[in-house]
Amino acid sequence: MDFRRLETAPLSGKTALVRVDFNVPRREDGSISDDTRIQAALPTIRAIRNAGGKVVLLSHFGRPKGEVKSELSLNFLIPTLQEHLGESIGFTDGFDPSAITENITLIENTRFQPGETKSDEALGKQWAALGDIFVQDAFSASHRNHVSSAGLAAFMPAYAGLSMERELDHLAQALENPKRPVLGVVGGAKVSTKIDLLSNLVRKLDMLAIGGGMANTFLAAQGYDVGNSLCEHDLKDTALKIIDAADKADCKILLPVDVVAATEFAAHAPHRVCALDQVAPHEMILDAGPDTVTQLLDAIDAAKTLIWNGPLGAFEITPFDTSTVEAAQYAARRVKKNGLIAVAGGGDTVAALKHASAADDFTFISTAGGAFLEWMEGKALPGVEILKTGVS
Ligand code: AMP
Repeated sequence: MDFRRLETAPLSGKTALVRVDFNVPRREDGSISDDTRIQAALPTIRAIRNAGGKVVLLSHFGRPKGEVKSELSLNFLIPTLQEHLGESIGFTDGFDPSAITENITLIENTRFQPGETKSDEALGKQWAALGDIFVQDAFSASHRNHVSSAGLAAFMPAYAGLSMERELDHLAQALENPKRPVLGVVGGAKVSTKIDLLSNLVRKLDMLAIGGGMANTFLAAQGYDVGNSLCEHDLKDTALKIIDAADKADCKILLPVDVVAATEFAAHAPHRVCALDQVAPHEMILDAGPDTVTQLLDAIDAAKTLIWNGPLGAFEITPFDTSTVEAAQYAARRVKKNGLIAVAGGGDTVAALKHASAADDFTFISTAGGAFLEWMEGKALPGVEILKTGVS
């Protein structure tokens, strides 16, 4: 994918407005429980500083809806940033360039500004006056057409930060220009949240394995009685249309061939492996069965590229994590031993792969939620599109 990269940006003596994602999870006492997003922003900040540039950081935090809410202020980040970057960090909630006295300055929560989510040009001009170039380093916010994630590009040249570059390069490797065959694994609770995603993927993949609760809707559409399982019966026609589209696009659909059925949604609930036509009315399907796992491992063997979103069963409750864990661990081994390119992301996927101790071995795991899903749906992301204009 061609886009403007940080390496080509003029940095020496310039001030870069850098969009980062500091929307970090916090514990009740206010401490940061997972600093992955802060870590992700550091290479770009350091690169700009090393090249002799100044940095002005922009991020949203929570959903203040255009109002100043002290509990959603970003000032809690100052000590952490100072510790990581070894410099004094400035902080301002205004637009006055003379308030930018430090080499690195954090701007207060972008969503305190009512114009942020409304593509407000006046706000864009006010922020743009604080710097010379715009560096978009928050892929996770790139699906939003907000001033700080896309709109600023109207007023200053825009470049991808290093974290954004890494993300875009890996995503392109998985869907735009992949080594074939490409296998998609899509699981999760419901079809309704993933119709666009499935419809896009069947046009691009060679094989698509559908698992988790959403597979139940496909099984029901094929005439199986799924008993008390999570199932969107009103979407059976949609499921058949997706199968039909896959057929036309030469994408092989892999559905469960056996299942693990239980009588309640609870850890260690009584359960049994059964054939698709043997689920009793009071039972619910909570995981894929062993034959399905074998089918999936064969597909992983055949694939050169794997793209994964969503768990294959109710992975939070043992033993219904079995198929997710086995398939994830197998994929991780294929990455290490056979050069499989395995990319995953979105929603519960990161948690599921971490639970399987497979996350570290995947080629790339996107920590973006909504943006990753919209990218899988084939949608143009405003915060990425601005990096492409004018690039040949
Ligand atoms: P999603 O956010 O759409 O990726 O869905 C993730 C959720 O789907 C997880 O909380 C899983 O427990 C749930 N899930 C996966 N398979 C099943 C299933 N067969 N029945 C009920 N819930 C499931």
